[in-house]
Amino acid sequence: MHGVVMHSPGDVRVEDRDDPTIIDPTDAIIRLTATCICGSDLWPYRGVERVDHKLMGHEYVGVVEQIGDDVKTLKVGDFVVGSFVISDNTCEICQAGYQSKCVHAQFVSGTQAELARIPYADGTLVATPGPPDADLIPSLLAASDVLGTGWFAAVAAEVGPGKTVAVVGDGAVGLMGVLAAKQLGADRIIAMSRHADRQALAREFGATDIVEERGAEGVARIRELTDGLGAHCVIEAVGTEESMLQAIHATRGGGHVGFVGVAHEGVNLPLDQLFFAEVHLHGGPAPVRRFLPELIQKIWNHEIDPGKVFDLKIPLEEAAAGYAAMNERRAIKVLLTL
Ligand SMILES: [Zn+2]
Repeated sequence: MHGVVMHSPGDVRVEDRDDPTIIDPTDAIIRLTATCICGSDLWPYRGVERVDHKLMGHEYVGVVEQIGDDVKTLKVGDFVVGSFVISDNTCEICQAGYQSKCVHAQFVSGTQAELARIPYADGTLVATPGPPDADLIPSLLAASDVLGTGWFAAVAAEVGPGKTVAVVGDGAVGLMGVLAAKQLGADRIIAMSRHADRQALAREFGATDIVEERGAEGVARIRELTDGLGAHCVIEAVGTEESMLQAIHATRGGGHVGFVGVAHEGVNLPLDQLFFAEVHLHGGPAPVRRFLPELIQKIWNHEIDPGKVFDLKIPLEEAAAGYAAMNERRAIKVLLTL
C-alpha cells in the first residue's frame, strides 16, 4: 500500500509500505476513505520537532476491513471515525472522560496511507449510523481531530450561554473552537485573526467580532470589547508562550482558558503572571473520543458543517504539495483523498 513518510524536515514522500496486519486481538484494520494534514505535522516539517522517516498522519475515517477476535462493537464494512489517541475507553481515566490519558493511550501515526492498524478498536473507533454520503466525509474527518480538539477547548473554557469567548489562533483548531463556542450557546465570540480568508470562515462558523491585533495590543482590544473585564472564556489554539500569555491576559479574573495548542519543549510561562492572572487553566491533547458520538450525530443531522475547514482537497499521492501549501499558509487545512 501507499503511505506518506517524512524522511527529514521538508522532505515528504509517498512510498510503498507493507500492509498493516492484525497484531493484537483488539486491533482493527481500516481502509482509509480520507485523511488529512494536521497543523502539528508542520512542526517536524519545519524542523522544530525531530523527524526521521516518520509515518505521518493521525486523522482518519474509513471502512473496517478486518477485525481481531476480541473486537465486539465493530464489524467488517462499518464506516468509522477514530480519535488521534488510542484508548480502551474502559479504564477509570477513560470513564472520567479523559481518553487521551487512557492507561493504554498511544498517539496514532501512519494514517496518511491506504490502510491503518488501529489498536483497541472498540475503545478508539466509533461507527457512523450507516455508510455516509460523500458530502459528509470531510466533516466526519474533521471530527477525528480538529473539531474534537476545538470542542474540548470550548468545554475546557466552560463556554456556554451568557458567555463572551475569545479565540486565540485562526488555524483549523481555532476555527473549530469558534464553531464549538457557537454550538455551546456563547453570546459573543471574538476571533483573533489577521487573515481575510480565515476571518470570513470564522464569521461563517459564528464569530461576532474579529480582532487583528496580537500580544499586548490584542489583549487591550479584548478588554475594550468586554467593558475592561476580559473574556469569560478563552480558547488557546497555538501553543507558544506568546499565544498562551495572550490568552491568559485576555481572560477576566475567575475566567477559564481552554488550551489545546500543542506546546513544545522550551515553551515556559512566568509563574508570577500566572499567579496574578487568577484564571482557571485546563487543556492538553483533547479527549476526542469523549465527544465523537455527539459530534458524529450533529454532522449526520447536518447541524454543523466543520468540513468547510478543508480548503484544499488533493489525492494522497500529492501529499508533498499539500504540506507545502499548509506550510506556506496557502491552505488552512488539506484533505487527502484516496
Ligand atoms: Zn482507558
